[in-house]
Amino acid sequence: QVKQNSKNNYAVYNKKLENMSLERRIIENAMRKGLNEHQFFLEYQPKFNIHSDEIVGMEALVRWNHPDLGTIPPGKFISLAEETGLIIPLGEWILNESCKQAKEWQEKGFGQLIVSVNVSVRQLQDPKFVQQVERVLKETGFNPKLLELEVTESIFADLNCITPILKRLRSLGIHISVDDFGTGYSSLSYIKHLPIDTLKVDASFVKDIHKNEESKAIVRAIINLAETIGLKVIAEGIEIEEQVRALRNDGCIFGQGYFYSRPLRKEAFEEYIRSKGFITS
Ligand code: C2E
Ligand code: MG
Ligand code: MG
Ligand code: MG
Repeated sequence: QVKQNSKNNYAVYNKKLENMSLERRIIENAMRKGLNEHQFFLEYQPKFNIHSDEIVGMEALVRWNHPDLGTIPPGKFISLAEETGLIIPLGEWILNESCKQAKEWQEKGFGQLIVSVNVSVRQLQDPKFVQQVERVLKETGFNPKLLELEVTESIFADLNCITPILKRLRSLGIHISVDDFGTGYSSLSYIKHLPIDTLKVDASFVKDIHKNEESKAIVRAIINLAETIGLKVIAEGIEIEEQVRALRNDGCIFGQGYFYSRPLRKEAFEEYIRSKGFITS
């Protein structure tokens, strides 16, 4: 009886594995096709100086417009893209599209907005990454000082490899921001040696900053740390006025979140900029 059971379990388990890899291969092929057929697009979420309420830039966020399934959020496909290596061509497309779009907006008189692009560790580890970035900058004619790359604390798992890459990127004039800061495994003693410019306070601390002393203390500690070693701080996931007030009081300068604007398709972003009177010429 027991034997029979374990055999069945094994069969079920095996079947599950098979289905998993089948599923993976289907999604992988669909993504490959999607890349060729231009099914991916970007949305842009504005970033603000939360004291002056001026727009300072925007974060590019990828979406997949699947012909049958509709719009698929990055949480559903980025990790598979990383595992399969598809993040390399996809990431290159994202970088190129972001710089091209930002350049166009600059030429339309939207001002010196900084465009932030999320990059996976997998991309940073690719020996061709810096070359790829240089090529995109050259082809789009985009000013590297207006480009920011958002990396996560997962870079800490491979610092020996990643640090020199970040240095090379910064020597091109590009800014580096550590996304979701406070949730990963950053060693605080390493932060001061890292070639980075900005800490992005994770949304989980912003969520209850106005009513939870611990979250407030963590955000304050991050802001103090950043000030001490000369980094900028931005808070993400701001949804309500009380959070803005708390962040202002704690000395946070920059922020983004639904309170200001959701991520917007390019047409909606343009409309937003014009309607708010942010346009400079
Ligand atoms: P992230 O870089 O930390 O981006 C913030 C996420 O929070 C975005 O979700 C954004 O739409 C969402 N968000 C912004 N403001 C608010 C708010 O006020 N409240 C709430 N609840 N959410 C808010 P999204 O677009 O689904 O992206 C999720 C994650 O996927 C990103 O987290 C990033 O890690 C990854 N991702 C997105 N685009 C790219 C990309 O182009 N390349 C790579 N490698 N990863 C990307
Ligand atoms: Mg980000
Ligand atoms: Mg984040
Ligand atoms: Mg995130």
